[in-house]
Formats: sequence, structure tokens, C-alpha cells
Amino acid sequence: MSKQRTEGLRYETCVVCGRQWIVSKLATVPKSGYVCPGCTGRKNEHSDKH
Ligand SMILES: [Zn+2]
Repeated sequence: MSKQRTEGLRYETCVVCGRQWIVSKLATVPKSGYVCPGCTGRKNEHSDKH
């Protein structure tokens, strides 16, 4: 069985939180590294919260 559910998907390690995330193979990852959706929205953590 070579076919698995992960077909079309791959793992990327978030450079911010260091966790592995399943992303689409079609997703583009910048040279600086993959940033997960959760960390992407935290760029302005000081001004965004409160
Ligand atoms: Zn992250």
C-alpha cells in the first residue's frame, strides 16, 4: 500500500512555534521558512491583543 491519505500533502515545520503542520503540496513556502496560520496572525501581538 503506497497510497496514503497524505497524498497531495506534506509536512512543514513552522519556524515560529517549531511544530509540524500538514500543508498542501501546492502551498508555497517562503525561503525564510514556513509559518503556520496560528503564528501568521501573531505578528503584531502587542497591538493586536487588548
Ligand atoms: Zn507556528
